[in-house]
Amino acid sequence: MQNTFEVEHRLSYRVLRWVLGVALISGIIISAIQVALDAGRVSRSVDVQASQTIALVRDAATQSVFSIDNELAQQVVDGLFAQEAIRLARITHPDGEPLGNGERPLQRSAFRPITDPIFDAERRYREALSRPGNPDIIYGYLDIHYDTAFAAGTWLERTSVTFASGIASAIILGMALFVVFHLLLTRPLLRIVRSVKQVDPEQPDDRLVALPPGHHTDELGLWVNATNNLLVAIGDTQKQHREAEDRVNRLARYDQLTGLPSRDTFMEMLQKDIHDAGERKSVLALTVCGIDDFKSVNEQCGFRTGDVLLQAVADRLTRKLGSNRFTVSRLGSDQFAIVEKGLRDGYQAADTADQILACVNRPMVIDDQTVTMTATLGVALFPGDASKPDRLLQSAEQTMALAKQHGHNHFQFYVASIDQEIRERKQLEKDLAQALGNHQFHLVYQPQINLETRRIIGAEALIRWEHPEKGLVPPDHFIPISEVNGSIVEIGQWVLDQACWQAARWAEEGMPLRIAVNLSAVQLRQANIVDDILSTLKRHRIPAGRLELEVTETSFMTNLEDAVAKLHRLSKAGISIAVDDFGTGYSSLTYLKRMPVQHLKIDKQFIRDLLVNEEDTRIANTIIDLGRSLNLSVVAEGVETAEQEYYLSQRGCKLAQGYFFSKPLSPHDFETFVAGFHRKLVENNA
Ligand code: C2E
Ligand code: CA
Ligand code: CA
Repeated sequence: MQNTFEVEHRLSYRVLRWVLGVALISGIIISAIQVALDAGRVSRSVDVQASQTIALVRDAATQSVFSIDNELAQQVVDGLFAQEAIRLARITHPDGEPLGNGERPLQRSAFRPITDPIFDAERRYREALSRPGNPDIIYGYLDIHYDTAFAAGTWLERTSVTFASGIASAIILGMALFVVFHLLLTRPLLRIVRSVKQVDPEQPDDRLVALPPGHHTDELGLWVNATNNLLVAIGDTQKQHREAEDRVNRLARYDQLTGLPSRDTFMEMLQKDIHDAGERKSVLALTVCGIDDFKSVNEQCGFRTGDVLLQAVADRLTRKLGSNRFTVSRLGSDQFAIVEKGLRDGYQAADTADQILACVNRPMVIDDQTVTMTATLGVALFPGDASKPDRLLQSAEQTMALAKQHGHNHFQFYVASIDQEIRERKQLEKDLAQALGNHQFHLVYQPQINLETRRIIGAEALIRWEHPEKGLVPPDHFIPISEVNGSIVEIGQWVLDQACWQAARWAEEGMPLRIAVNLSAVQLRQANIVDDILSTLKRHRIPAGRLELEVTETSFMTNLEDAVAKLHRLSKAGISIAVDDFGTGYSSLTYLKRMPVQHLKIDKQFIRDLLVNEEDTRIANTIIDLGRSLNLSVVAEGVETAEQEYYLSQRGCKLAQGYFFSKPLSPHDFETFVAGFHRKLVENNA
């Protein structure tokens, strides 16, 4: 629609034009008729005037011709000229001889061209003169010529007045109609148009058309009301449409029975989750959970019970996995899909799988009947197993189908090797939980040698796990697991306790050695770790200087302030601190300066290739120099050859430990080793 409505297009103007046109034409026609009638009247009045004049002078004129009195005739003629309209007056004998005569020129007038064709320039009248007693004898004639200009002049005046008033009244009528029309129609209509323009097509009933004041009862009012009713009706239908659309949407997007996202919705969410996981470089696990033997549940208990069971499972899953790390949806009849985001590795997904199994496994009471169900799960991991949502889902579904062939109530990972690894890790975790209680741990001790004095100055306590079936499990294997599940706290405390007990025994036996114990980052993060350590020392009555704690650089990383504070307290108590695996982490000088550290342990990986690999040699040298400049003693670990030992001692490294001197030993073997080592030393010196 046009924004500015041009004035000449308005109805009131068109009305004005029409009314003016019609009024003008009819005014002109009516005026013309009036004028024509008037002209007839004027024409007749000239005749009447002429016959009256003739009647007036008739006797005198007759008398003059009867008595052949020229003087009288001329007097009559002259008398006639008192009338200004008379142009010619003449009294003649029957033979045409004039007795009296007078004439003057036609009045000059600009309107003659108009009026002469209507009235003629002059009107001629001839009266035969006779005596009343003898009308057949004609004595002469009286001729009178009338100039029409005078009558026509008044006629013309009236004519112009008639036309002017006709046109004026036509114009006044037109204008009046225009104003009335504008006020009554155009203006309210324009208001309505403006109001209609403001109607929101999305919500037509939100803002109805405003009714111009004073038009409640007329046609405009009716029209606006009808329009508004229509708008309301349209709004209602739209609302119903929207509601229906929403309903259809919900039906399509969410599963009717459980209220969980349906397959299509799930795929959309998965797509997004995979994208996010890709950006954050985290692992995402997709677990497909199929209820075992759901068909027979349906057959035995009926579909209604089956539905209730599915609802209960859905309910339990959403309740258990409520956080926004998880998405639970229903894929189909008895299948659910669970997405877990933000994982480090697949191992965490195994925990979730266990939780899902437990959820399904809990007995349910329906209609006084206890039903216990199981499920089988297939787990696929992003990015390891697939990078596209449909491929990932396919992998998980296949894995679940495969897992069902091998029994119920368990889970399986898509990649066999990962599945195996995770399974073993899970098993190890379970076994680890029993290990402490079942006394499967023991400590071995690796001597630490002073390279200058060639004396044993201490020992590093290292844990060993004697697994009932697997035999010796290396700490590199189970310590990381115990750090993830937190059991390192308990295990670490046991190690500390055991090492302190051993140190106390050896001190009693005249072998006062310093024992180095590895302290995990998880242990250092414990709030009461300092008190625990100090009370352990007290319990075994050994001086704090007899204990060394080995911490890795990563221990400081997460909460530097906290770690610094704790290590300061330990250090103040007299415990010495060694930085383990130095050179493998950040090895930041800033950290090191703030730490109350006494020892740096060069990691065995640098010692292994010492003198073979230039880079490793340079790192070892740097650490030794760094230790010297910071006044820290450097311990080389993993010394396996005489060459390594020689090089290190020459380079200024004071302490060393490694297979070259001894493997980690049981306490008894350690005692034997110490005795032998010192005997050899005495012999060498002798
Ligand atoms: P670590 O603290 O760096 O311990 C040194 C590891 O090097 C020990 O392995 C030790 O047996 C080994 N080793 C010693 N000399 C040599 C050598 O000459 N050559 C070679 N190739 N290796 C040598 P282990 O006992 O298997 O311990 C591995 C890791 O397990 C330790 O590394 C430590 O991080 C952790 N660990 C061991 N016991 C404990 C413990 O009681 N608590 C904590 N938190 N961690 C422990
Ligand atoms: Ca260590
Ligand atoms: Ca180490």
